[in-house]
Amino acid sequence: MTDKYAVIGNPIAHSKSPQIHKMFADQTGQDISYEAILAPLDGFAATIERLRKEGYKGCNVTVPFKHEAWQLCNELTSRAIDAEAVNTLKFETGKVIGDNTDGIGLVRDIEHNFSTSLKGKRILLIGAGGAAHGVLHLLLEAAQAPLVIYNRTLEKAVSLKKTIEQHEKLKLRSVEAVEFGKLGDKQFDVVINATSAGLTDSEIPLPVTVFAPGALAYDMMYGRETPFLKFAREHGVAVITDGLGMLVEQAAESFFIWRGVRPETAPVIAALRKQQ
Ligand code: NAP
Repeated sequence: MTDKYAVIGNPIAHSKSPQIHKMFADQTGQDISYEAILAPLDGFAATIERLRKEGYKGCNVTVPFKHEAWQLCNELTSRAIDAEAVNTLKFETGKVIGDNTDGIGLVRDIEHNFSTSLKGKRILLIGAGGAAHGVLHLLLEAAQAPLVIYNRTLEKAVSLKKTIEQHEKLKLRSVEAVEFGKLGDKQFDVVINATSAGLTDSEIPLPVTVFAPGALAYDMMYGRETPFLKFAREHGVAVITDGLGMLVEQAAESFFIWRGVRPETAPVIAALRKQQ
């Protein structure tokens, strides 16, 4: 019997996840179906209940339900506990297990697809919303170097920094919270835009000196060149990318959690790039 999976969000029509998981299933010979489901804003828990009753094996969760999914789980992985958000649910008899694959998706995209080890790299993480929280802990683990959280609203950056100060394993790491316009002449090897500023074509205020020689500029948004990526290109940044690879890598990790098989991501990223 075909095992059923889905991605749940609101809105959801734009989601590339059904296409990505179909490519993974074709490639690995796994007998699964995967669809996009629109849940009402006040109906996430009811939608999950229905899927469980209908025998679904798991689902991905996207905006705006990742925190609600985190609250709903009976069991959480350490990655989900750290992120305070869940993007992957696995349904087992009598329990829902929650994981978060966004952080590992980003780290894999940078380290494997761009052959850039994060170890020792100075990272600037722009943003302090759900996406930044979702990747912060794994970035710190991978980099083992000082990291700056740079956000429009200082309080949110400070609050994100506090999650590290209270973290059993990461509390001694150097994390600084800085508000827009106050970066000074600090330089970074990896600059990651985890804000939604690109959605409104808004610029991120960055000094021209922010990119160290050989730096990588990463925008978690995908589909078009954001003002942040344009700024990086105009200032000669060597490696520039949007978040399409992260999207595929986080999906591959979910697929692995559900099926125990790791799909090849490169052909899937290449196929999606052709459509852009
Ligand atoms: P969120 O929780 O709503 O947080 C939004 C963040 O963006 C906050 O830090 C906010 O700053 C900042 N922001 C919003 N508008 C801004 C503007 N005009 N100028 C400067 N900063 C602005 O959203 P999220 O869930 O973190 O998502 C952020 C982005 O990540 C989205 O574009 C999403 O598509 C992307 N994402 C991509 C992937 C992937 O797989 N590639 C995965 C997850 C998320 P304030 O705190 O000052 O409001």
